[in-house]
Amino acid sequence: MNNLERGWMYDRLDGRGAINSRFITGVNNFTLFACSQQNCISGNNIRCPCKKCRNIKYKDVETVRYHLLHDGFVKDYFVWKYQGEADLIGEISFSNDLINVAQLELGYDNPYRQMILDAAGPNFNHGYNNIESGPSHLYEPSIEEEHETSMEEEPNLEYQKFYELLHSADAKLYPGFSLSQLAVISRMLNIKMKNNMSLRGFNQMMQLFKESLPEDNLLVDSYYQTKKLVRSLDLMVEKIDCCESGCMLYWKDHEHLTSCKFCGKERYKRRVSSRKRKLVPYKRMYYFPLIPRLKRLYASHTTAADMTWHREHIKEDGVMCHPSDSESWKNFNESYPFFADEPRNVRLGLCTDGFQPFSQSGRKYSSWPVIVTPYNLPPGMCMKEAYMFLTVIVPGPNNPKHKIDVYLQPLIKELMLLWETGVEAFDMDSYDVDNQ
Ligand SMILES: [Zn+2]
Ligand SMILES: [Zn+2]
Repeated sequence: MNNLERGWMYDRLDGRGAINSRFITGVNNFTLFACSQQNCISGNNIRCPCKKCRNIKYKDVETVRYHLLHDGFVKDYFVWKYQGEADLIGEISFSNDLINVAQLELGYDNPYRQMILDAAGPNFNHGYNNIESGPSHLYEPSIEEEHETSMEEEPNLEYQKFYELLHSADAKLYPGFSLSQLAVISRMLNIKMKNNMSLRGFNQMMQLFKESLPEDNLLVDSYYQTKKLVRSLDLMVEKIDCCESGCMLYWKDHEHLTSCKFCGKERYKRRVSSRKRKLVPYKRMYYFPLIPRLKRLYASHTTAADMTWHREHIKEDGVMCHPSDSESWKNFNESYPFFADEPRNVRLGLCTDGFQPFSQSGRKYSSWPVIVTPYNLPPGMCMKEAYMFLTVIVPGPNNPKHKIDVYLQPLIKELMLLWETGVEAFDMDSYDVDNQ
């Protein structure tokens, strides 16, 4: 490899400030190469040639990748000698098998680890390094680097939880076992959900499971403990009280009212028997904020690249396989050229329909889920459950009819924010901070 062929190493950003795809490919090849060089690997880590670590610190592959994409390579590092490359090497060649072995050994493709990194978001890895290297700095930052280093802060409580999770993604359930603690726990939660298992049943099963394992196992034996461990992966939900007749939400300015300002109905049920003073509303809706879900699409390796599919796919005349092939889509692009110009802007489809959750019992009760789908994604994805975001559940028992807009308020507020101001999201695909 001569300097010319490695020109991509110092050509990280394009004119718009986005990361060049050539650079991303190059970094991927670099990490694969580094992983294939057994004698330069320490434990599971390789030397990081980023501007900050300068081949002094050892980091895990995912972190190295992150550093390189974020900060670039240290100056004049055309020969990767700290990763095992000889000075006068003609061509790097290594078999695919070797790559796979290296990936496996380094946990490069540990899906649980990846899941946590996706959920934690892009700022996470920088905090992660602090924990590993501790307060002592292994090198003195030069003046130009100093401003970057000073931005590193102690990880906050939220990130602390992610470290615990990362630990549980790596820790084996018991010594010598192949599955990690997190792998077992998330699969158990999945089984519970798919089979509608009762809380009691789940706890009893987990207790038996724990008893049957060797003493030094890491299994948590109750649903409560399990949820506590994985809680930081959750996307939040807002519970909002509403008027029993659906005139208004006790939300924002009206959060503290105790009766409906239109029909005067009480907000809370009167409880005489219970000594506990916990207030129980007549009606409550659930709102699942959209913005964090959209952000996660961009923060995840799995989905970030697909978010521009609607622009990039090849359109066939007369065939409609996606909303982006339609006339109304083109019409929209012409009406809002500024918005259409950026393929990463999110286009959403919204739908709602009533359904009767208790129809078997004969009781009439209908509730109205409102579902939002990002149409940026390819057809195979945007029609999949995982990418249909449930945002609002309009509670029953009656059809909300014309009052549905009352329940849509939180969603509309978020959509207005997205449309008018935009929110910052981190795009894993191009590593570019951008407005949606
Ligand atoms: Zn680094
Ligand atoms: Zn009312």
